[in-house]
Amino acid sequence: MRNGLAVSPGVTIGTAYCIHEVFVDPDKRSLLANQIPGELARFEQARKRSISDLRALQTKVERQVGKDAAAVFSVHESILQDMALVRRIRASIQSDHLSAQAALADLVEYYRTYLERSGDDYLRERMADIRDVVTRLTSYLSDALRPDSGALKGPIIVIADELLPSQVVMLGAKPVHGIVTQAGSQTSHAAIIARSRGIPAVSGVTGILRQTKTGDTVIVDGREGHVIINPEPEALSAYRKLEREFFNLKNQLAHNRDQPARTLDGKCLELLANINNLADAKAALAMGASGVGLYRTEYLYLTHSSVPDEKEQIEIYREIIEASPNHVVTIRTLDIGGDKTVPFLGRTQHEANPFMGWRSIRISFEHPDFFMTQIRAILCAAAAATKNASNSRVQIMFPMITNLEEVRRLQSFVKRGMEQLKKERKAFSKIPFGMMLEVPAAAIMIDQLLQAVDFVSIGSNDLVQYLMAADRDNPKVSHLCQPLAPAVLRVLSSVVTTCRDARCPVTLCGEMAGQPQAFVLLLGMGLTRFSMSPALIPTIKELASHVTIPMAQSLLNAAMKLKTTQKVKSLLNAELLRIAPNLKPILTQQ
Ligand code: PEP
Ligand code: MG
Repeated sequence: MRNGLAVSPGVTIGTAYCIHEVFVDPDKRSLLANQIPGELARFEQARKRSISDLRALQTKVERQVGKDAAAVFSVHESILQDMALVRRIRASIQSDHLSAQAALADLVEYYRTYLERSGDDYLRERMADIRDVVTRLTSYLSDALRPDSGALKGPIIVIADELLPSQVVMLGAKPVHGIVTQAGSQTSHAAIIARSRGIPAVSGVTGILRQTKTGDTVIVDGREGHVIINPEPEALSAYRKLEREFFNLKNQLAHNRDQPARTLDGKCLELLANINNLADAKAALAMGASGVGLYRTEYLYLTHSSVPDEKEQIEIYREIIEASPNHVVTIRTLDIGGDKTVPFLGRTQHEANPFMGWRSIRISFEHPDFFMTQIRAILCAAAAATKNASNSRVQIMFPMITNLEEVRRLQSFVKRGMEQLKKERKAFSKIPFGMMLEVPAAAIMIDQLLQAVDFVSIGSNDLVQYLMAADRDNPKVSHLCQPLAPAVLRVLSSVVTTCRDARCPVTLCGEMAGQPQAFVLLLGMGLTRFSMSPALIPTIKELASHVTIPMAQSLLNAAMKLKTTQKVKSLLNAELLRIAPNLKPILTQQ
């Protein structure tokens, strides 16, 4: 049994499906002489397809973002056209009888040793380009990643280093029942994707890729953070029982989708969904969300190799608004950087602290035309959606706000966007303007900032990592990056109170909104709007129906007197089991 972080609740059993990066343990078995011509052809085909991808990307990005931004693709193409490099790979296949993937892994190793020893920052950065190119080639070479490779039957447990959005796309419609990653944490992509689909997941299980092979039977316990590889029959039957309980509870809770979200004493709540794409918007509807509280638009760019222009964006947003519950959607502008990078928006320079560096609106400000396209598209999509659904309510929200100057600058962007559209006689709507509160400086100044915005949404994933100075994606500091830490509770409570006193609508859209322990405390602080992964909504709705506001307040008072995170957790774990014992199969004990 291996232990990691419980990042998406539930228990599941399935067949391991290991996604090895090309750089990890490539298959070094020698090819037979008669396989060599086929392997050379496979490599050539992958190279040609990669080159044509890169050319298409370059043209599109150059047109929509600019020449500088597109330059990275021509660098990547020149790597693929470098005959010395191509000869090297062919020789590895031909003379050493290596598969194309193993030859690429050797190449990466060769350059890594050569470039990293150079001690030159510029050359070291080139390593990132080579890895990018090799990853692209591998996506065409690896059977494992192709959606049509149907070798595995039945429920699949994906085992990966960190699940990238592009890999999720490649997994396509496979029956993924569980996810285990070596890296990552509560708020990394894999965790967010798993929760949005209601798939049990465990992250931060170091070395699991070396201990598991595709085809092994794996148990994932997403409540306790356990992963069991090839379990004994006793463990298997015990976990089968838990798996059944989890499924039964999920089915049972699915029935509350049409019931209103209310506390036991009748306080109406808004349970909204966090979405990344159209499929999530549909899931939000199916799970009984009352709207979308956070649409992360960066997934548009993270999962597609192309950049949608204004017209395409309007269409995508309009579709999402129309598919979302009650046509209520808060659209967040691009939040790239930190853990999410998009090649065409730069980041050629290595950053020592990417989460504290060039990310989010800081990047958007440097690409004003590109940013304006998105703002205009959101304003136009809001108008287009209203035409089809008069009750639609669309809001625009900006991430990573640090100070008032940024808010003013963003307001002038929106104003300019509206003036342009008016001049061009294009239909648009004037929509509420909101900020994400995720930087401690903004939390301290919230009384001032809220006067300049129509609403506030607390991004607790980032707020917690910045408050605790603990990277949200680094399992080594996950003991610090805790939303139930007393310091976090104090800040949240003060922000919620300030917003409520000023009658400024406030939502919390970080992952803690869907964590039962945190949810009860937030309710006690006076929060009534929560945005979370769609799959968590039925659980939170059920939990709310067992809690009264005075109960939540007294739990908050008790928790605020405690001095350690562990004590807060223990108190809540015990109380939740008492308050809602029927939710036991889902309640995480970590
Ligand atoms: C957050 O930081 O809490 C948030 C919701 O945004 P993201 O997870 O996309 O950074
Ligand atoms: Mg954030």
